[in-house]
Amino acid sequence: MARINLEHIRHAYSAKAKAAGDYALKEVHHEWDDGGAYALLGPSGCGKTTLLNIISGLLHPSDGRILFDGLDVTELSTQHRNIAQVFQFPVVYDTMTVFDNLAFPLRNRHVPEAEVQRRVTEILEMIDLGGMAKRRAQGLTADQKQKISLGRGLVRSDVNAILFDEPLTVIDPHMKWQLRSQLKMLHRQSGFTMVYVTHDQTEALTFADKVVVMHDGEIVQIGTPAELFERPSHTFVGYFIGSPGMNLMPVAIDGSTAKVGDQSIALKGAPKLNGASKLELGIRPEFVRMGREGMPVTIAKIEDIGRQKIVRASFCGQSLSIVLGEDDDIPADPKITFEPDAIGIFADSWRVGQE
Ligand code: ATP
Repeated sequence: MARINLEHIRHAYSAKAKAAGDYALKEVHHEWDDGGAYALLGPSGCGKTTLLNIISGLLHPSDGRILFDGLDVTELSTQHRNIAQVFQFPVVYDTMTVFDNLAFPLRNRHVPEAEVQRRVTEILEMIDLGGMAKRRAQGLTADQKQKISLGRGLVRSDVNAILFDEPLTVIDPHMKWQLRSQLKMLHRQSGFTMVYVTHDQTEALTFADKVVVMHDGEIVQIGTPAELFERPSHTFVGYFIGSPGMNLMPVAIDGSTAKVGDQSIALKGAPKLNGASKLELGIRPEFVRMGREGMPVTIAKIEDIGRQKIVRASFCGQSLSIVLGEDDDIPADPKITFEPDAIGIFADSWRVGQE
């Protein structure tokens, strides 16, 4: 397994795009731990696949270097990087049996046949295709073929990393849960460095130890699911993670007091603003308290989603979401307060410290 260093990576897809400063990846500079399970999360077009293909060697970056365990692999082909990659859509050898499809990468590397038998059988059980080992891949469903692709990605035990690009898209929802938890288990047992691309936050948060959030060609935060929820370092992470996302509202700061409209909110300390032009206060809907004391809100709508109620309200002319428990009362003249520890101040989209 390998520690992956991405050093000042930038990528433009053409000379014209480069000349225009139109980079699909703008500046990626991070170290990912050996044996970590990372999810690369972000909306369509933010650069996830581009970054994954640069790590695997399918794409050469316009600028920057990739290192595996300190060794510069930027000029090495995919094969020489010793990476397994699973794509969104199945890649199978139709004329081979299911077993031989999985055995292929092992036999290609002259792994002893007894070990091939043991390893392939183990992975086939894991992906629930044990009973189909002797069937030809041709004629199988897209779902089954994708499991074969997944199995082929998992079968080797000597790779530097396994990269997954939205591998469960064509898998039916029930099986998705099962495969994702099996992947997680396999990660725990094997200690593989895994990078898993998805635009689905549930998938990212359940699979990964660390989630890498991408936005517009940049990594805006790498953190545990809890860190992303409790301390988003960028407004994008605030509203992209969580359902509903973080409430963000324009704010004026006076020492350690935040002013939203005509309301004053005491902060834990004075934010360090450094001359930023755009200031926002962020509070997650789960940390807005409702009662008879505090700041006035006008309720627009209450959505009952079973164990929780989502209240859509207006606060100082801003729309505000509030998450309440199913048994929480909503008073006739509701007032709100913000949990002080959960208030974030963002200057030009980035969270700032409060002294
Ligand atoms: P998705 O989830 O839709 O696959 P993504 O986050 O993986 O999106 P990328 O596919 O990496 O994003 O694309 C990043 C940017 O690069 C997008 O603006 C996309 O249009 C552009 N792009 C991707 N592939 C190419 C290509 N082969 N040629 C030109 N531009 C490309």
